Amino acid sequence: MLQFNKVLPRSLGCARRWVTRRFMSTLNTQEERKYDSTCNDVGSVNVPNPYIPNFAGEYIKPLQWKMYTKSHIPAILNTYWPRGAQSVDPLPYLAAASVLPMRTNNYVVTQLIDWSAVPDDPMFQLTFPQPGMVSPDDLHNILNAMRDNKSRVSLRKKVEKIRTSMNPHPANQKTMNVPRENGEELPGMQHKYRETVLFFPAEGQWCHTFCTYCFRWAQFTAVGSPQAFQSYDSEKLASYIRKHKGIRDVLFTGGDPMVMTTKQLERYIHPLLQDPTLDHLRTIRIGTKSLAYWPYRYVTNDDADDLLRLFETVTMSGRHLAIMAHVSHPRELQSPVVREAIRRIRMTGAVIRSQAPLIHHVNADPWVWVEMWQTQLSLGMIPYYMFVERDTGAKHYFEVPLVEASRIYHEAIRRVSGVARTVRGPSMSAAPGKVHLLGTAEVANEKVFVLQFLQARNPQWTGRPFFAKYDKRAAWLDQLKPAFGEEQFFYENELKGLEDAENSSGVLFQYQ
Ligand code: SF4
Repeated sequence: MLQFNKVLPRSLGCARRWVTRRFMSTLNTQEERKYDSTCNDVGSVNVPNPYIPNFAGEYIKPLQWKMYTKSHIPAILNTYWPRGAQSVDPLPYLAAASVLPMRTNNYVVTQLIDWSAVPDDPMFQLTFPQPGMVSPDDLHNILNAMRDNKSRVSLRKKVEKIRTSMNPHPANQKTMNVPRENGEELPGMQHKYRETVLFFPAEGQWCHTFCTYCFRWAQFTAVGSPQAFQSYDSEKLASYIRKHKGIRDVLFTGGDPMVMTTKQLERYIHPLLQDPTLDHLRTIRIGTKSLAYWPYRYVTNDDADDLLRLFETVTMSGRHLAIMAHVSHPRELQSPVVREAIRRIRMTGAVIRSQAPLIHHVNADPWVWVEMWQTQLSLGMIPYYMFVERDTGAKHYFEVPLVEASRIYHEAIRRVSGVARTVRGPSMSAAPGKVHLLGTAEVANEKVFVLQFLQARNPQWTGRPFFAKYDKRAAWLDQLKPAFGEEQFFYENELKGLEDAENSSGVLFQYQ
């Protein structure tokens, strides 16, 4: 059992419950009362004792994987929802899960969610579609259709209409990012930035659990053209990288590539390691939330040891292996099994970088980020990105205005030491590139947002500061207006040209 004995200030009401309720059986009641009394001021959050790695490893009891989908919602809520005066009606949750994808597993349900704190518990909000994620009118319509026992076809039509209205494919992913050869789109690849190609291995297009805020949610519900972003073709990937010498990184993404078996993963990775014509490829990245949702993947799964050997093969090839870990909340880093998983990955020479969006109801609190980054550092991870939630799905529910996002980032970053200041944010992964909101300023008597590209479709835009009018309601790049009376941002004309171009921006700016 983990011990918690430190107190840090925090805000966001009494959200510290997540720690106390699940892990605090060893905390004495006197101390607990002390924490409770500080809930309403700058607050307190309990953090675990420093992590002390055991180089021999921890014994972790294997857990058999069990997947839960929408149909399990009534049974799960019935089993775990606290017994009180009011029992929970599962129907609104089922209605929300008809619109947004829902899948979870026994580790998340039994070890991550604090059921004494539902529905506010951040892990519950993160993994179970909530009624408030669908507009009241739409929810009402679906509930009526469900209660009337309307035919599945009619219900599906209603659901499809709602999904289509939720901006399923943001940032022109399907038009500007997919590279073409001889006029044909290359399935399962995106190439937005010159240096990095994304590959969507076909077997990795699902996740151990779906996040309710997922910006790729449409892929899991087949809105638009299903299966568009996936490929089995490891040869095509290698030959594509061979032809484009500006590519430095390949990012395996999904879904979650770590749902694949080690053998499947090897089929994509091995060909990239052994070919001298691919020497310009320096980094292999794997985007994953498996550390949070199924850390057993690295510890007790049948092929966990083979997976670690594969990681070693990558690092021994002289390439950088970056595990791009999606970590939304510090609770995801608390269990003994996730800590053992991190230890084992690091032993292979791989580096774990962490990233997550800033999400109302999940982590919109500077102290949550402080604790998350500090815990990551203790575990040997590198804090990397704080994203702004994309303009898709249940954005109205999760949205944090840019002004607030900037405040949360700066309040958090001020409270960690220099080694944690590797994290960049708030950052918007938008159509023209990754736009970093540096902060606000007053320039020539005008209050402005100061912005900068961290990555851009045209590499020349990267690092160039630009300015937008201050707007306290704006929550995404397309809601911003240029400052100082300018009619458009400096990149907009060129971006329009790229939209009409015949290939993805990653191809257009390759070295000759
Ligand atoms: S892990 Fe990533 S891809 Fe999977 S549901 Fe969450 S955000 Fe989406």
